[in-house]
Amino acid sequence: MADVPVVARVKELRNFVQAKRLKGKSIGLVPTMGALHAGHLSLVEILRQYVECVIVTIFVNPTQFSVNEDFGRYPRQLTQDLEKLHEVKTDLIFAPHLEEMYPSDFSTRIIISGPAEVNLEDRFRPTHFEGVATVVAKLLNQAQADIAIFGEKDYQQLQVIRSLARDLDLSTRILAGPTLREADGLALSSRNAYLSDEERAKAPQLYLALCSAASLILSGMDINEALKQSTEIIVKAGMQIDYLELRHAESLAPVLSLADGPARLLVAAHLGKTRLIDNISVP
Ligand code: AMP
Repeated sequence: MADVPVVARVKELRNFVQAKRLKGKSIGLVPTMGALHAGHLSLVEILRQYVECVIVTIFVNPTQFSVNEDFGRYPRQLTQDLEKLHEVKTDLIFAPHLEEMYPSDFSTRIIISGPAEVNLEDRFRPTHFEGVATVVAKLLNQAQADIAIFGEKDYQQLQVIRSLARDLDLSTRILAGPTLREADGLALSSRNAYLSDEERAKAPQLYLALCSAASLILSGMDINEALKQSTEIIVKAGMQIDYLELRHAESLAPVLSLADGPARLLVAAHLGKTRLIDNISVP
């Protein structure tokens, strides 16, 4: 199999898309920050069922990191990423340089309210979704794909992107992919590479705590009581919780009872120097 072509310029991306369109091919986009794992690759495989041509973007977007976050040490491993994308069938990799995405005169920001202002990630990362929305709007415009896929792993981000696409009448359809997990339940994440062996052994408690709260809530236990018990599981595993909340699955507004509509349990916690997030549905 020939190597997957890699381009770094928007013009090259557009030329590729235009050539495929002339041949009547449908186009799909998988935006990533690289350091690819099986979760990312599962998005490629899902999208492949919908479109004929899959483009993966690799760009560590500085504007979604705040100054005290891990932009500098975020894992960058383009060579391994290319090998992995070669294995799942990818048609093009778009890996732009910083100046291609943010030239020195770049001066636009997209501000989102709604699901970006619900006191979850936004409370702890106040400028994060501004950066995400801006880069995703750029990528969607650059590629003009029929469909773009995002993971439920970053659940609030998914809702923010859905809002963005709807509010700005973007023509790309937004698809969601389920969270891929390790055998012990830990959600795959590029940031798991930061965990020491000891932390890695404790990390699955985050998912187990979510599952425990979901089953207690479904069996009729008071929501606050169920969340309290799960908080104890997470704290016992040595993590500091940013939030653990039951929210409406679409608006992300607080829910007081399961009768309020489809619900989602969302958590963020620190394990040593690593911040982990996860979520599950409470049907
Ligand atoms: P990232 O490179 O972390 O920005 O992630 C790129 C895309 O992969 C995002 O849409 C994520 O939600 C998605 N993703 C990250 N981890 C997983 C996972 N464990 N399972 C499925 N999708 C994931």
